[in-house]
Amino acid sequence: MSKIEWTGKTWNPIVGCSVVSPGCTNCYAMRMAARLERMSATQFPQYAGTTRPSKAGPVWTGKVALAEGMLDRPLRVRTPTTWFVNSMGDLFHEDVPDEWILRVLDVIRQASYHGGSNVGRIDRGDGEHTFQCLTKRSRRMRDVMTRLRWDGEMLHLLTHDDGRSRVLLRNLWLGVSAERQHEADARVPDLIETPAAVRFVSAEPLLGPVDFTRRMAHPAGDRLSSRTWLDAMDWIIVGGESGAGARPMHPGWARSIRDQCTAAGVPFFFKQWGEWAPYSLNPVSHEDGALTQMTCVSSTDRKEVGRISYLAGCGHGKPSIPLRKAGKARSGRMLDGREWNEMPTGAAP
Ligand code: SF4
Repeated sequence: MSKIEWTGKTWNPIVGCSVVSPGCTNCYAMRMAARLERMSATQFPQYAGTTRPSKAGPVWTGKVALAEGMLDRPLRVRTPTTWFVNSMGDLFHEDVPDEWILRVLDVIRQASYHGGSNVGRIDRGDGEHTFQCLTKRSRRMRDVMTRLRWDGEMLHLLTHDDGRSRVLLRNLWLGVSAERQHEADARVPDLIETPAAVRFVSAEPLLGPVDFTRRMAHPAGDRLSSRTWLDAMDWIIVGGESGAGARPMHPGWARSIRDQCTAAGVPFFFKQWGEWAPYSLNPVSHEDGALTQMTCVSSTDRKEVGRISYLAGCGHGKPSIPLRKAGKARSGRMLDGREWNEMPTGAAP
């Protein structure tokens, strides 16, 4: 089982990446890839050369690799499982050849068995696997998925989008990461234009407020439609950052997204606070002195005193708030007194 709360298992047929936006700064996969490479070159040869040491710890080299031995892993599992595709990289990274992406998509196609609805499905009599793919390269995802076609025998890519794309892989959920409004503005419109059975956004690590009620572009021109991003979304995940150097998430940012989802009827999943949580969740008496002596910062940044961080207002008129660095486990995943584990309609966690 994966430790990621919203999936079943991870599947990494392609590994390696490069940083692309602020959400990548403390990339867990980068540190883990270095660890796996050090641990065993025999067991994990695919990670060779994907990272290099730096003063700040391991960093990606930009090398991407196809792990041939991992490619058919889901086909060897008979129990219907939800797989997170490429947690150790980005399937739509600019250096991943189209051919590798097609091979991964073809495994996903084959993993829709009897009762599934994929093109060219095979009848093995058991249930189907579900795949969740998350990218920060939304433009390439859109480009590949709009050119994807089935010719009766195999998947292939057209050289140009002919405007007739449709969802071919019903068991593939496609999502983008969006850590701030800036990244959401760049990626969500691409996601909306991507044919997908389920569209989702992972706002983790959440580094700023995000308004998902922005209006979609009108298909017939450059006017705005009356529909909002949320009308095209099936699921939104929010989480704070964990690990060394983690940046705090203002509770107002998480609450605002939760409230937007609730109002629009979009399932909302609160994954974790991460390293930092509201002080009220983890009060510690000896730190109360520091708390009362502090004046909340009014700048756009945060200020740390001991284990307390004062985060500036979230931009939605929310006040500055003290957060405590309690660690991921102690911070937990309760938001306003409860867990939020909603999943797309009809989907199993
Ligand atoms: S895109 Fe994902 S895997 Fe790649 S560097 Fe960023 S966070 Fe890490």
